[in-house]
Amino acid sequence: MVRGFSAMKILVADKISPKGVAFLRQQPGFEVVEAYGSSPEKILELVKDVHAIAVRSETKVTREVFAAAPLLKVVGRAGVGVDNVDVDAATERGVVVMNTPGGNTIATAELTFTHILCGARPIAQAVASMRAGNWDRKTLSGVELFKKTLGIIGFGRIGGEVAKRAVAFGMRVLAYDPYLAASRAKALQVEAVSLDEILAQADYITVHMPLTPETENMLAAAAFEKMKAGVRVFNCARGGIINEDALVAALKSGKVAAAGLDVYPSEPLAKDSPLRSAPNLNLTPHLGASTKEAQESVGIEIAEQIADVLNGGAIRNAVNMPGIDAATAAALAPYTDLGAKLGALLGQLAPRQVTRLRATYHGKLNGLDTNPVTRAIQAGFLRRAAGDGVNVVNAPVVLQRLGIEFEAVNSDAAADYTELIQVEVDVAGGEGVSVRGTLIGKNNQPRVVGINGHEVEVAAKGKLLVLENEDRPGIVGLIGTILGNDGVNIADMSLSRISKGGTACTVVRVDHEPSGKARDEIKGNPAIKSARFVQL
Ligand code: NAD
Repeated sequence: MVRGFSAMKILVADKISPKGVAFLRQQPGFEVVEAYGSSPEKILELVKDVHAIAVRSETKVTREVFAAAPLLKVVGRAGVGVDNVDVDAATERGVVVMNTPGGNTIATAELTFTHILCGARPIAQAVASMRAGNWDRKTLSGVELFKKTLGIIGFGRIGGEVAKRAVAFGMRVLAYDPYLAASRAKALQVEAVSLDEILAQADYITVHMPLTPETENMLAAAAFEKMKAGVRVFNCARGGIINEDALVAALKSGKVAAAGLDVYPSEPLAKDSPLRSAPNLNLTPHLGASTKEAQESVGIEIAEQIADVLNGGAIRNAVNMPGIDAATAAALAPYTDLGAKLGALLGQLAPRQVTRLRATYHGKLNGLDTNPVTRAIQAGFLRRAAGDGVNVVNAPVVLQRLGIEFEAVNSDAAADYTELIQVEVDVAGGEGVSVRGTLIGKNNQPRVVGINGHEVEVAAKGKLLVLENEDRPGIVGLIGTILGNDGVNIADMSLSRISKGGTACTVVRVDHEPSGKARDEIKGNPAIKSARFVQL
C-alpha cells in the first residue's frame, strides 16, 4: 500500500493487552491513540481522522461512527462476538471488520474440560458442603473418565483441543462434524462417526459448533431419548444448542447424570431461570475466554491483524469478507492487480445501462482461490460509477445496490494464454463490452490482450485512447497527426490483428490526456466509430 506522508492513526478504544498496543506503536508510520471508556459523543470526535479502531465488547461502533470516520479501513475486535459493531454499516462503507476467533481456543477447551471433570466428580457440591461445615464423604463420590467414551459434536478448533485432552485421560473419543476430514480425525486419534452413533454410545457429550438453524436445539428431547442413561452433557459453545427445558427435565429424571453450561440463549441468565436450581448442573457465566493468557493473545492477535491490513498484507479473520493469508495474498497479487486494471478498463469503456458483470477465469487461474481477484475486478469496475468510496470490501454490496448481477466462471475452454481473465458486461438493449488480459514476463506485468473480440496488446497501465475504427489504411497517420498537433506524445500503440464487421480496434498509449479539441477532432472523423480516453 502506498502510504502518504501522514501517519496511520489507530484508536484503541477498549483496553486490549499492553503487548498488543506496544506492537502497534512499534510499526513505522503508525500513531496510536488510547482512549478508554469514551462517551459515544467523544468517540465520534476521536474517529474523524483514524484509519483503524481496536475494540473489545464495550465500545459501540455504530453507523454514526462509520459516517464520522472517512479514513477508516478496519475495525478489529479483540475477541469473538461482534455484536457491538454495526457490520452492515461497515461493509457498506468498505471497512473490514475482523475478530480473533483463534485466541480463545485453549481457554475455552480448558474450561470445557474443567466442566467435564466437575461433571464426573462433584467438586462444586463438595466445596459448598465443606463451606457449610460438613465432612460428607459418602454422597460426594463420582465416576472416572478413564476408558469412557466422549462424544464431541462440532470438531473445529476447540473440539480438537478438547479431544487431545480427552485422549490424554485415556478416553475413547468419537467426533461428529460434517466437515471433519478423515486425516484430521486419524491424527487426533478420534473416530469420525454419525450424530446418532454419538448419542447412542457416549458417556460424555460436549458441543463445539456455532449456533445455526441446524445446530439450534440439536440436543433436545428426541436426542436425549437416544442417549445412554446416566450420560453427562456440556455446552461451552453457544446457548441454545442444548435445549434448556429438555436438559432440566432430563436432569430431574436422572437420564442425564450431570451437566455443565457456560453459555445461554439469553445472557445474562435470568435470576429465576429453572437452570439455577436444576440438580447436578454446573453453571458458569460465559467464562470460556476469561483467562489472562487468552486476553493477552487476542490483544496481540488483533494488533497484528490490524497492522497487516493497514500495511496492505493479509486479511485474516474478517467477518465481512473472505479471509486471505499472507502467502495466498502474495501469490494472487499479480492477478488482483490485473483484475483491478481490467475492471477499471471495462468500467470506462462500458455504457451506463449495465445489467450483468461477468468474470471468466482461464488456465492457471482455475486452480486458485479467485475470490480476491473477483473483488478486485468488481471494485475496479465500479470506480467510475461509485468513485473512491468503493473497495474490495463493499464492491459486492455496491453492485447489488446498482442492480448489477455478477457472475464468476471458471472455464477450461482452450485459450491462447496460460492464464487469462475475461471481464465483460451485458448491457440493457445494447451490445455487451468485453476486455481480456494476461500477465507477461518475469515481473508478471498486466497486459490487455483483447477488447470487444479484437486482439490487441498493450500494457495495462497509464493513459489509453481506445478507438474502434474502420479497418482501412491511413488511420495511424491520422491519429498521429491529430495527437502530434495537440502536443501529445504516443508511448505505445496496438492495432487489432483481426477485425470483425470491418471494424478494427486501435489502442494508443499516450503520455498525457489529449485536449477536448483533439478528442473532438478524432471522434468527428467518419472513419472513427468510437473513441474513449481511459486511465488505468
Ligand atoms: P470452529 O469454527 O473452529 O469450529 C466449529 C465447528 O463446528 C466446525 O468444524 C464446523 O464444521 C462445525 N459445525 C458446524 N455446523 C455443524 C453441525 N450442524 N453439526 C456438527 N458440526 C458442525 O469454532 P471454534 O473456535 O471451535 O468455536 C466453537 C464454538 O465455541 C463457537 O460457537 C464459538 O462461538 C464458541 N466459543 C465459545 C466461547 C466461550 O466463551 N464459551 C469462547 C470461544 C468460542
